Amino acid sequence: MEFLDPKLNLYAEQFSSDETEVLKQLNRETNAKVLSPRMLSGHLQGRILSMLSKMIRPKYILEIGTYTGYSAICLSEGLQENGKIISMDINEELESFILGYWSKAGINNKAELKIGNALNLIPQIDHPLDLVFIDADKENYSNYFDLVIDKLNSGGIIIADNVLWSGKVLDTEKHTDKETTSIHSFNQKIKNDPRVENILLPVRDGLNVIRKR
Ligand code: SAH
Ligand code: CA
Repeated sequence: MEFLDPKLNLYAEQFSSDETEVLKQLNRETNAKVLSPRMLSGHLQGRILSMLSKMIRPKYILEIGTYTGYSAICLSEGLQENGKIISMDINEELESFILGYWSKAGINNKAELKIGNALNLIPQIDHPLDLVFIDADKENYSNYFDLVIDKLNSGGIIIADNVLWSGKVLDTEKHTDKETTSIHSFNQKIKNDPRVENILLPVRDGLNVIRKR
């Protein structure tokens, strides 16, 4: 669902920085060849992720939910010199596609792809994190938050995508599916957690920007 008038969305894209050529190509090829291309962050959200990352200047980024690697490239644009991004996905079928594009984007020296269930992979991370992007299975957003919060540095940021879930969160009596109820209880949990402050940005499908105190 588009919350913003498509013409306004286009205007916002036109008057924001362009996607790089590699990101344009990755966006096009995902739409042409890969299942569920709507999951890709896209031009405007990609620029938002890049801008936020550049403001944070993270040393370590964790991304949960790589898909075709688009958002990882955007997030990596703000990394410190010698910084690293680890991105996880349960779907091994896209591995060579992702690595091909990361190489084209020149980030394969700082980006590491881990294939597997993020619930099992996150506990293996043994260094502090500055920026986390939660964008995998919606049922587990709260679990992902619990798994990363103690690894996040004070002042560190978690960005969770799709927290408006096409507006279904407005009516959880009508939308009783697991994804809607999980996202709604994730948003409630964040609002009530004294360890963090947050802003739910109504951008695209909703970005919850969460800062650890
Ligand atoms: N961040 C990407 C889109 C991610 S789509 C972008 O913005 O372009 C969500 C991804 O989460 C899918 O690729 C799916 O395979 C992955 N995923 C779903 N459940 C997962 C799990 N338990 N562990 C890791 N990845 C998972
Ligand atoms: Ca998403």
